[in-house]
Amino acid sequence: MKTQSLDIENLDLALDKAMNVVKNYMNNITTEPVIPDIKREDLKTLIHSEIPFEGIGIEKSIEEVEETIVPYCSKIGNPKFLSWIITSPSPAGTIGEIINLGLNQVPFCYKSGPAATVMEEIVISWFSKIFGYSNESGGILVSGGTMGTLTALSVAREAHIPGVMKKGLQNIEKPLTVYVSEIAHKSVETAVSLLGIGSDFIRKIPVDSNFKMDTNKLKQAVKKDKESGYDPFCVVAQAGTSNEGSVDNIDAIADFCNKNNIWLHIDAAFAGGAILTQRGKELMKGIEKADSISTDPHKWFFIPVEAGCVLIKKREHLYNTYKTADKNFNKEEPIEYMNYGIQFTRMSRALKIWFAFRTYGLDKIANIVNQNIDLAQELTQKINGSKNWELLAPTQTSAVCFRYIPNLNLTNEELNKLQHKILNELEKSGKAFIAPAVINGNVAMRTCFANHRTSYEDLNFIFKTLSEFGEKFSK
Ligand SMILES: *Cc1c(COP(=O)(O)O)cnc(C)c1O
Repeated sequence: MKTQSLDIENLDLALDKAMNVVKNYMNNITTEPVIPDIKREDLKTLIHSEIPFEGIGIEKSIEEVEETIVPYCSKIGNPKFLSWIITSPSPAGTIGEIINLGLNQVPFCYKSGPAATVMEEIVISWFSKIFGYSNESGGILVSGGTMGTLTALSVAREAHIPGVMKKGLQNIEKPLTVYVSEIAHKSVETAVSLLGIGSDFIRKIPVDSNFKMDTNKLKQAVKKDKESGYDPFCVVAQAGTSNEGSVDNIDAIADFCNKNNIWLHIDAAFAGGAILTQRGKELMKGIEKADSISTDPHKWFFIPVEAGCVLIKKREHLYNTYKTADKNFNKEEPIEYMNYGIQFTRMSRALKIWFAFRTYGLDKIANIVNQNIDLAQELTQKINGSKNWELLAPTQTSAVCFRYIPNLNLTNEELNKLQHKILNELEKSGKAFIAPAVINGNVAMRTCFANHRTSYEDLNFIFKTLSEFGEKFSK
């Protein structure tokens, strides 16, 4: 009997056509609109949705993508996309990912992806070095910061209560407690919940006027918990809070944690890339003292999604948590990634990182990060120098939180509405995209410079446009 396969007759042609879609999109990345102006209901009628029992063939599928998908993508790589902490992917990162998808390696063990396994080891060692870890450290590439923090906290839990992966938390004597600043990312809560500790056992430590965790209040909270019969086991410090981009006093927190046998994890999802720069190194002083670090190559390292990286200061803790056989850690034994993380079947995330770093060199990426920090400083100066603008948080990394404040005696509620109105108008114009954020109850225009294409001209244009909209809506 004849068998069938899913092979495509003219693969070369199909690949060329598909690559043309990518080429057109990437070549037009600076054109508008930044965010497509289309309602969800309308888009639902545009994109083919009936279950396709019969196929239309590759050529028509590609045409459909060109017609009904590409125009309705958000241009994340546009130089005037400055929202959240989604960065413009570097073209080399994208090309690396395209090659990677074609190769489809599955590095859970060496044989299922020899080059991918070795590349992952190499990439992990690069990040370890960048953050000041020794060769005793280890890590794994994951989907992002959320999975990175989950992985790190699971390792922290196993290190604190050896055997907990097997025995669970059913019999522990003292409830575990975790400490984060009150403005930490939600992913910490998710991790603590999933690990059976429960988000009620997170102590949210107030921040100081620079949006850094108040170290004295952290010490007081730990002391109080110990006296009340809790078991403080982990602090998560932020290297770049999502909204403000503020970095906790890592050095002081690390010394406190070391003294008290508390695991310190650093959430460097956002600002990790700043470690490549002198300013970032100073902000994150002491980061190498932490027990674990998660950072997002898909944020300030300009790698396309998804790419997260979790580093553990002592590799054996990671192995002890995820080993698939009942074997003791042996540092001479070659790394099989199924023993170092949650997933089995997993994509190679190393190639695009290795490829992009190799293509540009880290010095060049550091220059771009510095350029982003300079742009943030420039905008900060503009805000400070204009009477109708107000900064809502000090600028530490690349996020600038500010608002328009006309001379009209508006209530806070009216001011909040005004910011939304201005940002909506900007988005509708298609010319730029800035998302709002809430800082101490105030709506801020939060502009995040984590885009390798943004220039001073772009910044000037955006500031001028926002000022015009501000005036228009304050009449
Ligand atoms: C983005 C972010 C996260 C979550 O990372 P994902 O990659 O989105 O899963 C965690 N913490 C901070 C500070 C972040 O900015």
